[in-house]
Parts: sequence; C-alpha cells; structure tokens
Amino acid sequence: MTLYPKLITDALATVVYPGTKKNLIESEMLADDVRINGMKVEFTLVFPRETDPFLKSTVKAAEAAIHYHVDKDVEVTIKTEFKNAARPEVGKLLPQVKNIIAVSSGKGGVGKSTVSSNLAISLARLGYKVGLLDADIFGPSAPKMFGVEDARPYSVQKDGRTLIEPIEKYGVKLLSIGFFIDPDTATLWRGGMATSALKQLIADADWGELDYFILDTPPGTSDIHLTLLQTLSITGAVIVSSPQKVALADARKGIDMYRNDKVNVPILGLVENMAWFTPAELPQNKYYIFGKDGCKNLAEEMQCPLLAQIPIVQSICESGDAGKPAACNIDTMTGQAFINLAQAVVTVTNRRNKEQAPTKIVKVD
Ligand code: ADP
Repeated sequence: MTLYPKLITDALATVVYPGTKKNLIESEMLADDVRINGMKVEFTLVFPRETDPFLKSTVKAAEAAIHYHVDKDVEVTIKTEFKNAARPEVGKLLPQVKNIIAVSSGKGGVGKSTVSSNLAISLARLGYKVGLLDADIFGPSAPKMFGVEDARPYSVQKDGRTLIEPIEKYGVKLLSIGFFIDPDTATLWRGGMATSALKQLIADADWGELDYFILDTPPGTSDIHLTLLQTLSITGAVIVSSPQKVALADARKGIDMYRNDKVNVPILGLVENMAWFTPAELPQNKYYIFGKDGCKNLAEEMQCPLLAQIPIVQSICESGDAGKPAACNIDTMTGQAFINLAQAVVTVTNRRNKEQAPTKIVKVD
C-alpha cells in the first residue's frame, strides 16, 4: 500500500461538515499541508472558530473516513486551525471607546511619554476606564515606565477572532509597539511594517470598553500619525512641550498638523513640561531653565487652553525609570499635579464633545 495525497482528499470528500452541509473539500477546510511519510499522514483542518460545535465530531469522522476508504492501518494526525472573523472596517473600529486622545510633541525628549503615562494612570485613579497605546516606534518607553518590559501580551479568542490582550497595570490597559519590536532596530523598520503593526495593535486587540484611549505618538509628524488619523476618529490632541524656543517652534508645527483642514483634530490643550526647577533645599525658588511661560504664551497665541505646567522634579524622572510613575503616588505634589492635569483633560474633552461634531477619519486619496 502506497499513500498519495489524492487518496486522502478523496476520503475527506466523503465527510460532510454540518456547518456548511458540504464535504470538507468543498468547504475548503483542508489546509494546503498534507504530509505523507510511509503509512503516516498529517494535515490541518481549518474551522470557522475555536468554539465550533462540530469540531470534535468532524475530526473523528475525517480520521474514520481515511481508515475506511484508504487503509485501517494509516496513522492519522489531524491538526486544527481557526479562520478569524474579518477585522471590522475602518470607521467601525473600537465601538466601545468613548474618547481617543493623541498625546503629541514636536520634539523628542520633552516628556511626552512621561505625560502620557502619568495622564493615563491619573485618569484611571479618577475612576475612568483607560487604555494606553504607546505608538512611539522610535522610542517606545511605556513598557519601562510601567515596569513591564518583559511582559509579552498573550492572545484571546473573542467573537471568532484572535485578539491581543493588553497588559493591565496601575488600572490602565497597555499595549506598546515596544512589546513587538526591538527598539534598537525600530529605525530600520520600513514604514509599511511599522504601520501594519500599529494597525494590529488598534484593530486586533481586546481594548473593550474605554472612557479614554490615550495614544502616545512619536515626536514630530510621521507616517505613524497619518496611519492613526486614517484609522481612528481622534477626539482631540494634547500637545506637550518644554518652554524652550526650539521645542515651541516644533510644537507649533504639531498643532498646525492637527488643525490642517484635511485633518481637523481639535487641540484640547498644551502641557508645559519642565516648566521650572525648584531645588529641594530652596523650595521657594523657581529656576526657569528653559525659559519662562513659553507654552503659556503659545497657548494664548494658538487660542487653546494651557492644561498644566509641570516642573522638573527628580522623582518624575526616577519613578519613570523605576517602573512606577509619579502619578501612582497621589499624596505627592507631582502625583497631585498629574491628577489636576487629568481633571483638566476631562473638562476640555467634555466641552469639546458638547460643542463639536465627532472627528472625521482622514480619507486616503
Ligand atoms: P519624550 O517622550 O518626549 O521623548 P520622555 O517622557 O521619555 O520624553 O522624557 C525624557 C526624559 O526626561 C526621561 O528620562 C524622563 O524621565 C525625563 N522627564 C520628563 N519629564 C520630566 C520632569 N517633569 N521632571 C524630571 N524629569 C522628567
């Protein structure tokens, strides 16, 4: 007796799959992987979903058909796989997410990730359901700031789809592009690879119900911003800058991008980070290392609120490095400063939603 693939497919063509009332071949359930080795045969059957009620009986029937029609001594190994239900189309993604807030900066190093993480944690402390997507492919820092660098999100089955389960820490559901790419090679990523990974983190993740979905975007303007604008209806943007002139000039460019008439994402407000430095031994003194009130002036010029002025505080830096951001300690001055920022964000978002229509997704030409 010599086995060959046609014998196997003919046998499988005698098995009816109750889900389609057609045989396994017509139902296109046999994967293209029939492997024969002597009297051993191995192949995969693809079912619509993992919870398929006919799964076990169909696998048994397939094995029995080979024993009956081919030879009773054939050693049959059947693997199973599941076809994913289609990803919802753009415009119907994240239906249970109420507000999507992009945190942006013109320049790197001004504290955008620090503000994103602390804002997310503070919103959660105020009782909101919060997700944070770290989309900064050039320097994904959320895993470090949340102390989950070694975490690897696992997948779950939901409604016939395999979804990435966000990591949960400090009350925030978190996913970072840093979980999936090696930051050292991030800059070598071709645009297409980074944007398709990002789309997966949005569309193929189990974000569930959220009041606030915070997007930590890369500095400047990039392909990643375009992908976000083409994928999600962004409620508003929060711009982070230091008061330094070069940072402000780049922040202005970021504001202009969101206000571009093809984009039309409302600016919820500015956050002035590194606003001043106060040494512990001279608590009355404020040193304006990067200049004074730069963001305040920019906010006035751009006619948008200044949501917070956050000083340079050693503990903000240290706590971020230690994986437990300042916002986790509500009793400290800095913890309170980030709670105030979160409250300001809630107020401006509510006002925005009352006064303006939902943002339209940017269409691809
Ligand atoms: P970005 O996301 O804009 O590149 P980060 O949030 O990664 O910036 O911040 C850059 C560095 O500055 C980090 O080491 C961070 O801990 C530190 N940092 C940010 N904001 C403050 C602050 N207000 N006080 C002290 N250190 C800060």
